[in-house]
Amino acid sequence: MSDRLSWIQDELDALKAQGLFITIRTLSSPQGAWLEVDGRRVLNFCSNNYLGLANHPHLREAARRAIETHGVGPGAVRTIAGTMDLHLELERRLAAFKGVEAAISFQSGFNANLGAIPALVGKEDVIFSDELNHASIIDGCRLSRARIVRYRHNDIDDLRRVVRETEGYRRALLVTDGVFSMDGDIAPLDRLADVAEEHNLMLMVDDAHGEGVLGRGGRGIVDHFGLHGRVDVEVGTMSKAFGVMGGYVAGPRPVVDWLRQRGRPFLFSSAVTPADVAACIAAVDLLEESTELVDRLWENGRYFKAGMKQLGFDTGASETPITPVMLGEAPLAQRFSKRLFEEGVFATAIGFPTVPRGKARIRVMISAAHTTDDLDQALEVFEKVGKELAVV
Ligand SMILES: *Cc1c(COP(=O)(O)O)cnc(C)c1O
Repeated sequence: MSDRLSWIQDELDALKAQGLFITIRTLSSPQGAWLEVDGRRVLNFCSNNYLGLANHPHLREAARRAIETHGVGPGAVRTIAGTMDLHLELERRLAAFKGVEAAISFQSGFNANLGAIPALVGKEDVIFSDELNHASIIDGCRLSRARIVRYRHNDIDDLRRVVRETEGYRRALLVTDGVFSMDGDIAPLDRLADVAEEHNLMLMVDDAHGEGVLGRGGRGIVDHFGLHGRVDVEVGTMSKAFGVMGGYVAGPRPVVDWLRQRGRPFLFSSAVTPADVAACIAAVDLLEESTELVDRLWENGRYFKAGMKQLGFDTGASETPITPVMLGEAPLAQRFSKRLFEEGVFATAIGFPTVPRGKARIRVMISAAHTTDDLDQALEVFEKVGKELAVV
């Protein structure tokens, strides 16, 4: 390695010294309530596999069939190689599921934000953005070259203040996460919609952790608040509750038509594979057939959170099955996670820059795939490690 790169090793060493170096475990099993990690069976509380669909037999079968009928690759970007009928079918199904006119699929939720935001606003425009918005929203905002004005997290008064104080722009976009993934709290989308209407702001919500979770049968945050027709742009991912891979933007038809012309990841990056798309369609089928998995997810979330509170853990501001276990300093969170793993529970420590400094935590991701026995077992381990490390 040349000297020009020695700064990288210094940076890596600094991360390790601060307890902020991320180590990545290797799985040799599908996603599910239990995983095989480094040759051991452990209880899984890390994934966004909210409904347990990542290894569901219907989705596996749909993917297999799509490989037989459509092969494994999309060939090129859809605007050049043509689009497979499967992708269009998924887009129609997602639009119907979300109760909007149209949808356009992207390779990921991250790409959906990188595509949508710069297509909606540019240099002469302004974006009002929640200070805790997801990295992909932040990057989409930066790529747009619009002026970015942050408001305090979920703080409507602060939003009104910054909107009043900002002038001299052409168009304005108000953008927020629906469910904030690190704390599990929900954006006050009803009141954001009021502000958007009062001030003529385009309103965009990223529903990555809300779809399959909030609303009737998991239809998402717009349904949760009954705001159909009042939110201009919804971004979603197929990689969380839907259990597969891919992202999308849903909304009025002109928004989707515009993104087919100007959404750069749509124009310049190939679509997800036929197998992915077919599995996504099968996930929508399951969600439309029954609310059983969504109901189970919420029951599990309530059960686990109540148990943790009883043990004396601080589970923060969560209103969803996401259960942060607040620990404060990153090295403590890392030690806690390591001890959990030794006791057979896989739950990752999360520190800066994913969450603010001093707010390190273990984030426990509950799934419909967990049984009550699984949750009881986890609670026992949390109690043991919590006492050992003097957290409770
Ligand atoms: C996870 C997440 C994304 C990224 O979704 P991928 O499909 O994994 O790229 C985007 N936005 C939010 C709010 C997320 O939580």
